[in-house]
Amino acid sequence: MTTIANKLQSVHTQIHEACQKCGRQPTQVSLLAVSKTFPAEAVREAALAGQRAFGENYIQEGVDKIAAVRAMVDVPALVWHCIGPIQSNKTKLVAQHFDWAHTVDRDKIAQRLNDQRPEELPPLQVCIQVNVDGGSTKSGCTPQQALELAHVITQLPRLQLRGVMSIPDPQADDAAMLQVHRKVVQVFEDIRASGMAGLERFDTISLGMTADMHTAIAAGSTMVRVGSGIFGARDYSHKA
Ligand SMILES: *Cc1c(COP(=O)(O)O)cnc(C)c1O
Repeated sequence: MTTIANKLQSVHTQIHEACQKCGRQPTQVSLLAVSKTFPAEAVREAALAGQRAFGENYIQEGVDKIAAVRAMVDVPALVWHCIGPIQSNKTKLVAQHFDWAHTVDRDKIAQRLNDQRPEELPPLQVCIQVNVDGGSTKSGCTPQQALELAHVITQLPRLQLRGVMSIPDPQADDAAMLQVHRKVVQVFEDIRASGMAGLERFDTISLGMTADMHTAIAAGSTMVRVGSGIFGARDYSHKA
């Protein structure tokens, strides 16, 4: 049986190999473990194997899991990333319970997260979700809108702009995938090159999943979001 610890190790090896192939340092690419649909016990296993950053898509599921994991006495402090779509009626939960939000794609959501971030917590770490392929994943702003949204976010005191995030559609081959991934990296570079204030910690390109992390790393990803590669196949049958 392959344990979560084994699979984590194997994902680290894949990240290492992808970095070697393109001449990057493995320390430049962090691993976000996507635990959506998996129980708190699976998070515990990964945490005890050394994983610290976890991503959740469904906000209520995430909030419940964060509480369950926090109650486990042998699990160290973890960092929680919201990587699913954020509707207006869910911003408060995200602001109160998560450390990061990767899927900010419009002013209204940024403003609400800022206003609802509790005073006693550090600023919410934020990525702008961009849609570079106009694909079926409808969330995400256009590359043009991303620069304007960056201006808005950097002026909100309870948000810290960390980078960009994208979920491109699968492409026919690696060359096509790499091109799409490079467009995301270009959006990051354009925002950085603008020199606007508030980019002191602008360092994150959240790009690549189990199937496409090698091309994402070749393009410049600094954070890959891996679910099935760590936890196994997902079972959605219990979801409403
Ligand atoms: C589910 C999901 C992932 C992980 O996908 P895998 O293919 O299981 O690695 C990464 N990012 C987002 C936004 C997701 O929804």
